[in-house]
Amino acid sequence: MSAWQPTDCHAHSRHSDGALTVAEVVERAARLGVRPSITDHISRDAPTEVSSPEAVARYLDDLEHYPVLRGGEFCWHDALWRELPDATVRRFTHRVGSLHSIRLASGLLFRAFSSELPTSLTARVYIDAHVSSLESLAAEMPVDILAHPTLVPPPLRLLDPLELWTEAHEERAVRALKSAGIAFEISARYPPHERIVRRAADAGVRLSLGSDGHRADQVANVAAPLELARRLGVADEALYDPERHGSRTGAYAPHAAAEGRRA
Ligand SMILES: [Zn+2]
Ligand SMILES: [Zn+2]
Repeated sequence: MSAWQPTDCHAHSRHSDGALTVAEVVERAARLGVRPSITDHISRDAPTEVSSPEAVARYLDDLEHYPVLRGGEFCWHDALWRELPDATVRRFTHRVGSLHSIRLASGLLFRAFSSELPTSLTARVYIDAHVSSLESLAAEMPVDILAHPTLVPPPLRLLDPLELWTEAHEERAVRALKSAGIAFEISARYPPHERIVRRAADAGVRLSLGSDGHRADQVANVAAPLELARRLGVADEALYDPERHGSRTGAYAPHAAAEGRRA
């Protein structure tokens, strides 16, 4: 059996807003000793060419030419993921769900990249809506990984995450992921605070490494997420790997998933 290698479950190519071709992502990962994924945006509300069921099939056709895991990053708030035929869904090795917009209590969607928050949207109101949206994603969306679970708009990134997030919010988020069987991504791009990652690991939520890389210096660089997982005492082999642990909907389900439950 060959030595364990980290898997970058989340990286972008020119199919969406990445700077590299698929071949360049593969080459970069090989140089870092990391198993590569292509996990481009699949959405009608993101910078991507993969924005229809037909385009998703073409995207997968292309990825099948490369030694690379075939992922996709789906916006929860956009309906495209709901429209894909099962035959297409099964061609992914793994799928990633993202809260690029959250739903506010009013029912309106709010972008998680907004540089300003209306005054009515206090940090506490925002994080409440974020966690409620996360719970909806976990209940509705058949994905394997929640990308950057702690992504919040830039003004809220200035706050101490231990104050932005109450322990009760963390509990709710972790419980939702655990009951859905969705992995918690340790993102290199939007690093989560350690307390929530520890809580996820302690609750038995699987952790996943994600560079969320868009450029050559970012793609497949999962050193910091791996270091955090190891510091928390998580075994390398327990980090999410679609081949080892299966996918809820994808190419390696279900027999690999049955195997994964033991590891
Ligand atoms: Zn994202
Ligand atoms: Zn991404």
